[in-house]
Amino acid sequence: MQSQLSQMQQLPALTLEQRLGRLKALQKSIQTNKQLIIDAINADYGQRAASETLLAEVLVNLEDLKHTIKHLPRWVKAEKWTADWKFWPSRCAIIPEAKGVVGIMAPWNYPFNLVAGPLTAAIAGGNRVMIKPSEITPKTAELIQSLLSDVFSDDEVFVVLGDVAVADEFSRLAFDHLLFTGSTRVGKIIMRNAADNLTPVTLELGGKSPVLIDRDYSLDKAAKSIAKGKWFNAGQTCIAPDYVMIETNRVAALIDALKKHTISAYPSIDNNNRDYSCVVNNQHFERLQKLLKQLTNEQIVHVYPEHQAQGNRMAPVIVDNPNWQNTVMQEEIFGPILPIIAVDDMTDAIETINKGDKPLTLYLFSNNRQTIKKVRQQTSSGSFAVNETLVHFAQQNLPFGGIGASGMGSYHGYQGFVTMSHMKSVYYQSRLNGNDLVRAPFTKLKKKIIDWMS
Ligand code: NAD
Repeated sequence: MQSQLSQMQQLPALTLEQRLGRLKALQKSIQTNKQLIIDAINADYGQRAASETLLAEVLVNLEDLKHTIKHLPRWVKAEKWTADWKFWPSRCAIIPEAKGVVGIMAPWNYPFNLVAGPLTAAIAGGNRVMIKPSEITPKTAELIQSLLSDVFSDDEVFVVLGDVAVADEFSRLAFDHLLFTGSTRVGKIIMRNAADNLTPVTLELGGKSPVLIDRDYSLDKAAKSIAKGKWFNAGQTCIAPDYVMIETNRVAALIDALKKHTISAYPSIDNNNRDYSCVVNNQHFERLQKLLKQLTNEQIVHVYPEHQAQGNRMAPVIVDNPNWQNTVMQEEIFGPILPIIAVDDMTDAIETINKGDKPLTLYLFSNNRQTIKKVRQQTSSGSFAVNETLVHFAQQNLPFGGIGASGMGSYHGYQGFVTMSHMKSVYYQSRLNGNDLVRAPFTKLKKKIIDWMS
């Protein structure tokens, strides 16, 4: 790995033409091979809904590539500025340049998207790239290696396969930038490893993303959007609604509305329903079962009480008002379990959120402008989404990233280009300039001039 990196670091940045050429080739490869992407992720998961893969790992990335290819010729242009008047007529410019070799580390929950998205940004910046896909989705990792080797030469993009020990070694390489997507726990290890080389990091992490429902917002509308966002990929989404807060007297009605919309989306949850995805592996399935074991029977609301677990297929479960001491409220759930927490009012909900880590996304369902403003201003989160779940991720004009425990830095669209570029300050001195007036020896006249300027 080290020799590969050293070799790549000797090579020049990709030109605009090379960047556009490779991005178009990547676009074509994703379009041509979408069935292979669906099949590989499906094999890794046991069952992953093909439509979810098409939406989240093909369409989102194709849109990202389209947007990047269209705007890149403008993004790479120097931003010209006049110098401060005392330095006239010299000129200034901010010129984006490639950082060098970028490392990308990806998780398993959207194993293709979370490689292709950062890769698009890194190539747009003109960088060469080394990638470490997740070992938990090995078939997808192999496919990524094979598809990318058709699009890029080995000294442009190099994919490393392997387990956690390989990931650890990878994160210790002296990259010029490292973009890591994964858990907050591992994010801390990655940042420590990168610190030895002063490698700048973008950390796209997780955590608990809460949902708040305002007192007069339609429960039917909120439940429909929450059910979509939570059960997509069986809850294994970094921005999945982790839990919902609502006033005490509306908890029961919300649970009914959630059940209705869940059953309407997934009339059955058995193996024959190919729209519902499995939990990625047995270890995660057992982790989720353990969360339920800490709860009482009264707290657990099975949406499909008759469902018998088949492999790692876990039916949606709603939890009625768990305690904050329960592990389900202490850790990111990352599976099809949705706690509903009763609160007194919005102020109570805001105070509760502010006691915990800053979320990756905070969702609010409200039609009241004052309430929207209050929640937005009095809380801090990577993103804030009003009256809808998940789709803010797909907005090309919005940076995507966390704050505090949910991450640092961001990418997507222009922000991805900026993250993967060094914005170099350039100063052009003019032939005629006033430098001699402020240079030693400081004569009486020069002192007067300096005095006048200061
Ligand atoms: P993870 O942190 O376990 O693994 C992510 C990557 O880190 C993998 O490539 C893995 O090989 C590597 N890794 C694991 N242990 C390591 C170690 N000790 N040293 C060095 N590298 C190590 O995360 P995961 O379980 O694959 O993914 C789930 C997490 O990712 C959730 O917390 C989720 O919220 C988060 N996530 C965040 C985003 C985002 O964009 N913010 C997107 C998807 C997932």
